[in-house]
Amino acid sequence: MKRIAVFPGSFDPFTRGHEDIVLRGLKLFDEIIVGIGYNSGKSNRYFEIELMVKKIEETFADYPNISVLTFAELTAAFAKKHKAKYLLRGLRNTTDFEYENSISQVNRHLNPELESVFLITTPQFAAISSSIIREVHRYKGDVTAFLPYTL
Ligand code: ADP
Repeated sequence: MKRIAVFPGSFDPFTRGHEDIVLRGLKLFDEIIVGIGYNSGKSNRYFEIELMVKKIEETFADYPNISVLTFAELTAAFAKKHKAKYLLRGLRNTTDFEYENSISQVNRHLNPELESVFLITTPQFAAISSSIIREVHRYKGDVTAFLPYTL
């Protein structure tokens, strides 16, 4: 049976740190679905979700086993719908750990079949965060080095 994982996140924007987690995840899974979660109500995103889908697809154009979808429901339900038994997440530091620890407990409760798998960040990407990139971009700074695509 194919091992399918969902890599869920806001990806606002998708960064080199995220790309690294997906590519390393391919050593563990046959298929990875990058799932961009959003609120079905008014969007509070900085980067348009459609733009991010396009850019992530462009990033993984050479990988037929990586796909990109958006979702506005519980991550556990989204994973189940796509027959994914694994949730892939990245860990940069203890703050990530605290947060990931609690959501993984909730996800396990919602869908006991779903196993969360965590990859520790590659040191060179540890300082990259979507929120910092948004700040730099907002004030017209150059964010090229942090992204695996050009905006
Ligand atoms: P969320 O809004 O769900 O936290 P993000 O888009 O910020 O989504 O991140 C998605 C996942 O990627 C999370 O597990 C996060 O910890 C991880 N992540 C974010 N940045 C990095 C990075 N630089 N290196 C490794 N993992 C990262």
